[in-house]
Amino acid sequence: MSNPFGVHALVWTGGWSPEEAEHAISSTAAAGYDLIEIPALDPSRIDIADTRDRLAAHGLRTSLTLGLTFDNDINSEDLARVAAGRSTLMSALDITRGVGGEYLGGVIFGAMDKYPGPTTSAARANSVSVIKELAQEAAGDGITIGLEFVNRYESNLLNTVQETLDYLELVGEDNVVVHADVYHMNIEEDGFREPLMRCGDRLGYVHIGESNRGYLGAGTIDFDEVFGALVDMDYQGVITFESFSSAVVDPNMSNTLAIWRNLWSDGMDLATHALGYMKTEMDRARDRRVRGVESDLELG
Ligand code: MN
Repeated sequence: MSNPFGVHALVWTGGWSPEEAEHAISSTAAAGYDLIEIPALDPSRIDIADTRDRLAAHGLRTSLTLGLTFDNDINSEDLARVAAGRSTLMSALDITRGVGGEYLGGVIFGAMDKYPGPTTSAARANSVSVIKELAQEAAGDGITIGLEFVNRYESNLLNTVQETLDYLELVGEDNVVVHADVYHMNIEEDGFREPLMRCGDRLGYVHIGESNRGYLGAGTIDFDEVFGALVDMDYQGVITFESFSSAVVDPNMSNTLAIWRNLWSDGMDLATHALGYMKTEMDRARDRRVRGVESDLELG
């Protein structure tokens, strides 16, 4: 079995005009990926029928991700903001359904921003309530909802695997999963192996990114540990490469994510390198597992 591999659209383009969509989708297919992750932050800029047709023409699967803002924050005690966030998420679900997407995730449980203080139980309850409703809406179309816990500077609600698992318990819907991003785990977790394995079958989506969000292998993340855990837990889900550079700017995302530096300028070189890197790491982890089982048998 081989996991589906995806790449984030911001490797190719910061906009989604028909020309930009074609460039991103055809490049994703040419680089050998199975799936493209499309940012759904601004529903008005996505032509649903056009996107669906281009995905089909290139035989690509798709997932949609976004982060809420303080204006439409469902992790808030302000019911007007919660209502605005609910509306954004339902629009994003419409887009996901319309383009034939299978997954809607990201920082959808609250604002993707640095909060001035910790969350409150009332704000958390509002967030849980909206995500539960979103999940129930999504279930009818077989769409999975993913909660991407992020570092402390981008959320005050979900920063770790355990916080996300606890939140999932409160939501109580089977089509809501943990979306793990190793860039964020590298900041907040003690390591990678134990937290990933603790997710068990609640792990539904993985973002692979380097510690500096550039080329895989050029930073400090222990990818042997990451891919070893994914193989050992028999993770079969999507693995999406995420990388950002000032060379490709999305007016909605680049400033929020603090993409100030130029870490690469050739998206095709970056994306093909990343796919090769991820597949090699998976193969090596499978090999280590087989050899581990064999040596256990010899010892036994
Ligand atoms: Mn991510």
